[in-house]
Amino acid sequence: MSEGAVKKEEKPRKFQAIRGTRDLLPPETALWNRVEQTAHTVFGTFGFGEIRSPIFEWTELFARSIGAGTDVVSKEMYVLGLQHDNPTDRDLAHRRETLMFMVVSSSDKSTIDMFTLQTRKFCSDYEAALGKELVYADIGTKVALEYLKDSISYLVEDLLAQTRAGDWQERFDRTVALCKQYLELVEPTIALRPESTASVCRAYIEHGMNSLPQPVKLYYLGPMFRRERPQKGRYRQFYQIGAEVLGGSDAPAIDAEVIEMVMTFFDRLDLQGVQLDINSIGDRNCRPKYIELLRAELLKVKDQLGPDSQRRIETNPLRVLDSKLESEQGIIATLPRIADHLCEDCATHYAAVKHQLKMRGVFFRENWRLVRGLDYYMRTTFEITAQGLGSQNAVCGGGRYDGLVELLGGPPTKGIGFAIGEDRLILSLQESGKAPAQQGRDVYIAWMGERAHATAIRAAKVLRKAGFSVELPPVEQKFGKALGQADKLGAKHALILGDNEVSEGLWTLKTLADGSQAKYTEPDLLEHLRKTM
Ligand code: AMP
Repeated sequence: MSEGAVKKEEKPRKFQAIRGTRDLLPPETALWNRVEQTAHTVFGTFGFGEIRSPIFEWTELFARSIGAGTDVVSKEMYVLGLQHDNPTDRDLAHRRETLMFMVVSSSDKSTIDMFTLQTRKFCSDYEAALGKELVYADIGTKVALEYLKDSISYLVEDLLAQTRAGDWQERFDRTVALCKQYLELVEPTIALRPESTASVCRAYIEHGMNSLPQPVKLYYLGPMFRRERPQKGRYRQFYQIGAEVLGGSDAPAIDAEVIEMVMTFFDRLDLQGVQLDINSIGDRNCRPKYIELLRAELLKVKDQLGPDSQRRIETNPLRVLDSKLESEQGIIATLPRIADHLCEDCATHYAAVKHQLKMRGVFFRENWRLVRGLDYYMRTTFEITAQGLGSQNAVCGGGRYDGLVELLGGPPTKGIGFAIGEDRLILSLQESGKAPAQQGRDVYIAWMGERAHATAIRAAKVLRKAGFSVELPPVEQKFGKALGQADKLGAKHALILGDNEVSEGLWTLKTLADGSQAKYTEPDLLEHLRKTM
């Protein structure tokens, strides 16, 4: 069989949108636009300006801010250049990022041990991957790995020599710095953003926004990417509308105003069943002590908890409070509550936030089990749910993150923000019948004959300029067929232009709802349409 014949028989591949992604189509997109326009308007009235940041950044930015150990960074992030089906690639990139952030200080022996051990293992696994020519075959990477291995050998030597006097510490610090430099040379990766707070903070630092009048109030909207298991209300490309207040003070009125702004936005959209939950999760002073207390209490009831919660006792005991497992609810209800263990500053701040919310007429429910999934939150945290969303009913999450800008290399900066899940917001609006109906045309122009075509083109121009939505068929149709077509498209009016209309200079307008029709001059027609629509 000739090559040509084979080609003929091949069926072209049918492409479909990738799992967890979807097309947004009209008329639904009209609702998306209305939601986004409302965000621009409402946030503008609160003095917020829009920021548009890139949808990909250095993986490091997210690893450092969200936390290398969180699910979002370690499991769900789309790291570019990786073959996602290959666990080795993913694992290597993740381990590199983790090593980059491991704080190694000569006084902390266990971290040093872990760092050297893990870096050595990283080098050998990376080399094995290179040997199999998996992904990275770049000569620079190979050289960097060699140097990294050498530096690690020095580090281990120094570690063994820890008891020796002299310039041990200085040499040690230098070697650690070198290791990090070489790690940096091993293919720093970029990732699709799983959220935008880190990008906004990066931009705040990069553009020296701390020299602007404080606080700086920014909002954003756009797609985010997380490799989660898709279901209703949960996608791999999803959209967020969010805002951040950076710099200035941490006055409770700022927390309250940010929350008031989201609630105003939801109110303007007439979102149904809105429920605001708030909590304070303390700060660097009080949270660690509470976590230890919680861990101790959880250990006492470990046998009665499921495997996820058992694991979390070690990794992140706060997350046990998030558990939805029916069998664990009774136990969780008896656990110590953070509100009873806040330090004085945090308790005062929390009380003032609640007072401020009341002053603004914002209804809230205190929820001591509300702990946010991302590492950087402190003090005020909040979550908003809406109706019609099933298990994925959170439409907005937010909180205070005073240390984040500093963690990313900027000056000490206060910060608070939120992110709304736009997909879920839209779903909830649709469920409660707030979606606009099929987007119909205002006027369908039914024309016949060459002269009428010229008039039709002019009429379309005039009507569109006046803001009406106009359908101008490209080819001549019998009037009966044209009216049928107008009906199918949901047009309100049909403008009938034939030889008679052109010679009389009077245009026939048929109202499709009741079948009535009348003749108008061009200016009268515009006047009539303006009045009736
Ligand atoms: P987070 O950035 O995790 O605090 O999420 C803030 C909000 O974004 C959530 O309350 C959800 O409404 C929305 N969201 C988060 N992940 C997804 C997802 N995979 N699909 C759709 N919406 C999401």
